[in-house]
Amino acid sequence: MTLVDQFQRRISYLRLSVTDRCDLRCAYCMPEAQTFLPRNEVLSLEELYRLAIGFIDRGITRLRLTGGEPLVRRDMIELVRALGRKLGNGLDELTLTTNGTQLARFADDLFAAGVRRVNVSLDTLDRAGFARLARRDSLAQVLEGIAAAQAAGLTVKLNTVALKHANADEIPVLIEWAHSQGLELTLIEVMPLGEVEEDRFDQHLPLSEVRTALERRWTLTASEHRTGGPARYFDIAETGGRIGFITPLSNNFCDGCNRVRVTATGQLFPCLGGGEQIDLRAALRSASADVALAEALDLAMKIKPLRHSFRIDAPGSAPALSRHMSMTGG
Ligand code: SAM
Ligand code: SF4
Repeated sequence: MTLVDQFQRRISYLRLSVTDRCDLRCAYCMPEAQTFLPRNEVLSLEELYRLAIGFIDRGITRLRLTGGEPLVRRDMIELVRALGRKLGNGLDELTLTTNGTQLARFADDLFAAGVRRVNVSLDTLDRAGFARLARRDSLAQVLEGIAAAQAAGLTVKLNTVALKHANADEIPVLIEWAHSQGLELTLIEVMPLGEVEEDRFDQHLPLSEVRTALERRWTLTASEHRTGGPARYFDIAETGGRIGFITPLSNNFCDGCNRVRVTATGQLFPCLGGGEQIDLRAALRSASADVALAEALDLAMKIKPLRHSFRIDAPGSAPALSRHMSMTGG
């Protein structure tokens, strides 16, 4: 039976986190001294595979592997290969969200396994700015990774978190560069997920402001393009490319939600911005795993909320949720 929630939204998209670990420490995502989970708490490769198959059997047709940084998990490519065999056989699309640092190494393998699109996070093209924001001097590796992915035949989409201080002035440069490379770029508002060093209010840059600034420089035309996700797209006449806006704070995007998320420990979050949680690891490890998993997914459909409850109202606001994006899987 397919997955339909209490608001009649058909859930066809799973974001599965394969690790909470990462080789970067983006300031908006996690603190420098992030503590990672003990390895035995994380689902094994076989459990991740069984879980994914359980979802595919219930009508999930699009699967995105994420993290943390998915490509730092050692056995990750084996999982991609195994899931790639489901393409055309229940699964329509297998994608990845990555910071790009390991892409040069894995791009060919990903393509060979059936992956056709990857999202790469890139918030700045300035080496010093990157090292400050990601707290690692890895811009060159990321750019190399993007080029390798394109050379391997993968369609690369860039994700850029708009930040009041770290990259606000640089957004037009990033867009121009992306479009000159034939890359689509989507801007994302920072979300109040987990404690980081800086106050979220000081990071938050409403995309309405970014759009106004871009419209002073370029001609933006609303595009009919849709991916089934929360982004709204605009074509830019002058650059000949497209940009997306994901605005969880300034414009609620929940009505057409088609997704759920599962962490690397098998916790299902029906909503990125909600407190609801279901333990799929317990279901997977129970004596009658298939029945327990099916029941857990039915329950998820009953408790998926209508909308998230993010807010960044004022300086010093507590995070909406204590978990970091690297845990839930972006
Ligand atoms: N490590 C991979 C990467 O950076 O693409 C995948 C995981 S990362 C958590 C997924 C996406 O979430 C990235 O595009 C990242 O920029 C974004 N992200 C992380 N923390 C965020 C936050 N607090 N608000 C908005 N986006 C965030
Ligand atoms: Fe790592 Fe991605 Fe979080 Fe940056 S955004 S710290 S790359 S998980």
